[in-house]
Amino acid sequence: MGSRLVVVGGNAGAMGTAAQALRADPSLEVIAFERGGWTSSAACGIPFFVGGEIDSLDSLVARTPEEHRRRGIDVRLRHEVTAVDLDRRVLEARDLENARTYETGFDQLVLGTGARPLRPPLPGIDAAFVHGVQTLDDAEVLFRKAENQDCRRVVVVGGGYIGLEMAEAFKRWGASVIVVEAGDQVMRSLDPEMAAFVSEAMERIGIEVRLGTHVNGFDDHRVIVEGGDLPADLVVLGLGVTPNSELARDTGIELGARNAIKVDRRQQTSAAGVWSAGDCCESYHLVSERGVHIALGTVANRQARVAGLNIGGGRAEFPGVIGTAITRVCETEIGRTGLSEPEATEAGFDFESARIISTNHAGYYPDARPIVVKLIVERATRRLLGGQIVGGGPGVAKRIDVVATAIWNRMTAEELVNLDLSYAPPFSPVWDPVQTAARQLL
Ligand SMILES: Cc1cc2nc3c(=O)[nH]c(=O)nc-3n(C[C@H](O)[C@H](O)[C@H](O)COP(=O)(O)OP(=O)(O)OC[C@H]3O[C@@H](n4cnc5c(N)ncnc54)[C@H](O)[C@@H]3O)c2cc1C
Repeated sequence: MGSRLVVVGGNAGAMGTAAQALRADPSLEVIAFERGGWTSSAACGIPFFVGGEIDSLDSLVARTPEEHRRRGIDVRLRHEVTAVDLDRRVLEARDLENARTYETGFDQLVLGTGARPLRPPLPGIDAAFVHGVQTLDDAEVLFRKAENQDCRRVVVVGGGYIGLEMAEAFKRWGASVIVVEAGDQVMRSLDPEMAAFVSEAMERIGIEVRLGTHVNGFDDHRVIVEGGDLPADLVVLGLGVTPNSELARDTGIELGARNAIKVDRRQQTSAAGVWSAGDCCESYHLVSERGVHIALGTVANRQARVAGLNIGGGRAEFPGVIGTAITRVCETEIGRTGLSEPEATEAGFDFESARIISTNHAGYYPDARPIVVKLIVERATRRLLGGQIVGGGPGVAKRIDVVATAIWNRMTAEELVNLDLSYAPPFSPVWDPVQTAARQLL
């Protein structure tokens, strides 16, 4: 048996690192502590399971604890790591089922503790009808409620992508759904006028959107807001997440943006031999050139690969992120990458933008649907800084990946216009909408 690697967390960040490290160095002894009851589960699938589009919760588990064990990882479920002693290279674990605490030594440690949904300290937030969405246990509870028609009136607090996906899930069951958002737009990662297209799409399918509405608490199946309480059989919180970085902080490990764990390009923390990957740690934004906290499965998996390769004796680097994300509210798809206008302003760019309306495929081909594309460029160099897409038709928002690739490669609007992209009437207009937006900029 080689040196011992201990990972904290049972999901993409921690288990992805463990699996990659073991592939690179099969002599490693690997122990994984997970305080919950699942490993390698896809939280991304939860809204679609709750909405009845995916019929098995088990299908959201990419690798069970038994499968990890068969691959040589000693998985310890319902074990919470409560402290780390870097000098002695030991950690303290609490076996939650048997209420005992013990120490385990390590040579290398991975913190893959993820993030948790924000729960502001509002009166009544712990009431039984107020739910966060994070684990497969949450998915099961919410699905049962939806299926049993227990919740005809659902209030989603927060207009981020998880809130929107959950709103759609309950709408699919015929519930009346209100999304309450304190800010003046949904999807704050979009520019306001692009977010307005999303709100309009939600209203069109019968999801009520209340912007600028502060929730003051929850009481007896009511959401307390200014101007009249909202009756609710169920409340779903979608207020964003905060990194689970307290264990790192208490160990003396440096934190960065929004208290996420600071890592170098190899995913090593400020402590030698302690690595981190996933929603608990910081990323470097390649456009704003700043540390950011972006909690996405895409990022977690890529960081885990890099951390695992390094732990296994290789030399890999995680270059950074550009904030590419995609979501959907019923038939309206939303994609974004790079910087929005407020983000570009904050990063100090002098920029200009263009917004066009095109169609998802050739206008004369049946069922052509509108697609709105916005691009942002640096004024002097015409280098692409950001892109946003809102539109109808399956797969339209995946066009954001073309823009992401262009931004990643520091391309200009001119270079995007000249890209040799594909075309046939069922797939796109002859000028792809992202190129039409780039032409507008020129
Ligand atoms: C509803 C929903 C939809 C999503 N949709 C998307 C999507 O469409 N696209 C996308 O890219 N991302 C999406 N995400 C985000 C994605 O799921 C996360 O980025 C990903 O799960 C991060 O993996 P992670 O391992 O870093 O963290 P987590 O999945 O949070 O896992 C961390 C694990 O560590 C455990 N843990 C924490 N502290 C301790 C401790 N002290 N001891 C032991 N165990 C501990 C936790 O129990 C948890 O299981 C979604 C998330 C949610 C909730």
